[in-house]
Amino acid sequence: MRNLTLTIDGQKVTVPENYTIIQAAEKIGIEIPALCYDPNLEVVSACRLCVVEVEGVNKLQTSCSIKVEDGMVVHTNTEKVLAIRKEILQLLLDNHPNDCLTCQKAGECLLQRYAYTYNVKFREHDGARKEHIVDTSSPYILKDEDKCILCGKCVRTCAQVSDRAVLSFAQRGFDTKIVADADLSFEESSCVSCNRCVTVCPVGALLDKRIIGKSRIWDGEVEEVRCKVCDYGCDFEVLTKNNKKVAVRAKSPSNGRPLCLKGRLTSELLYLDNPQEPYKKEDGKFVKTTWKEALGLGDVLDKINSIDDK
Ligand code: SF4
Ligand code: SF4
Ligand code: SF4
Repeated sequence: MRNLTLTIDGQKVTVPENYTIIQAAEKIGIEIPALCYDPNLEVVSACRLCVVEVEGVNKLQTSCSIKVEDGMVVHTNTEKVLAIRKEILQLLLDNHPNDCLTCQKAGECLLQRYAYTYNVKFREHDGARKEHIVDTSSPYILKDEDKCILCGKCVRTCAQVSDRAVLSFAQRGFDTKIVADADLSFEESSCVSCNRCVTVCPVGALLDKRIIGKSRIWDGEVEEVRCKVCDYGCDFEVLTKNNKKVAVRAKSPSNGRPLCLKGRLTSELLYLDNPQEPYKKEDGKFVKTTWKEALGLGDVLDKINSIDDK
């Protein structure tokens, strides 16, 4: 593949010709903000926060989708670019709950980070607000609709695994929202609690329910562990607070790793000091279950016991 050289904010960078501007910028340490972009997902250019100015082009360009060109000159922080970014963030924050103090996502939330970077405040303007609808039906995931910024990452990541595609956009305009199946609760839906969607949500709209209230990112240490349940080897993080291992959470499912509930529960059982009881879905309802059943170890343990008895 050919390499091309372009200039971004005065710095020259040489990258393969299939790179986009945002990837080239990242290579030289220039962070372009983006809410809907994820290198592991299909590019949709929906949030438009990543716009940049390209010399010789009249319109602002979305850096997540525009491929680099030889000799291209890009500016990522001009007055025009900053004004647009602030406008987009203000629109989001005018209709967003001012909940950073208690939000589980605080400290890792991209909206919070960009609001700080671009000095944009909550609810500067009056107007219609989203309803506060929270789906608490799953013991594994909490869905808080009024924090959703409709980036669609959850929809795209769920659909990456065949037979899942549980999430989609529903309704239109101001009423647009993310739904599970035909607008069912997580409990009623076909969701398999893999938590892929939680790992990619840039805000606190989808949260890992088993972590809430236990630790936020600045509270303790994070140790990476690799699941050994199957050959994919998905990555999980073990969170430690006050010398206690308090929670396990799934890491981004890059490289096609599917993530699954069994892998996550196995990691909880192996690493946590006080693992919470597991749940399984039975006829569309979550019910508490035993570790033996949750991890599918019944037959294996029975066989071991029968061998031991002999
Ligand atoms: S989702 Fe982000 S911006 Fe919204 S309340 Fe939580 S931390 Fe704050
Ligand atoms: S937990 Fe997994 S299956 Fe359920 S909605 Fe999220 S990505 Fe889809
Ligand atoms: S739930 Fe999260 S990932 Fe899904 S669209 Fe809303 S903000 Fe994006």
